[in-house]
Amino acid sequence: MQVICCVCHKTKTHNSWTKQAVRSGVQLSHGYCPQCHKQMMERVANFFAMNGCRKSA
Ligand SMILES: [Zn+2]
Repeated sequence: MQVICCVCHKTKTHNSWTKQAVRSGVQLSHGYCPQCHKQMMERVANFFAMNGCRKSA
């Protein structure tokens, strides 16, 4: 099974993320590469900051 980033469509090969064609028949698991994961976390943090939904843990 191969992990593909659902944002930039890079696939994980060994320990690096590269943009490459995915062979048909390969099972894909959608996730986030470290770069897009970081962007997404920043976006989520901004969203909560803007909406004032910060709950005390
Ligand atoms: Zn990505």
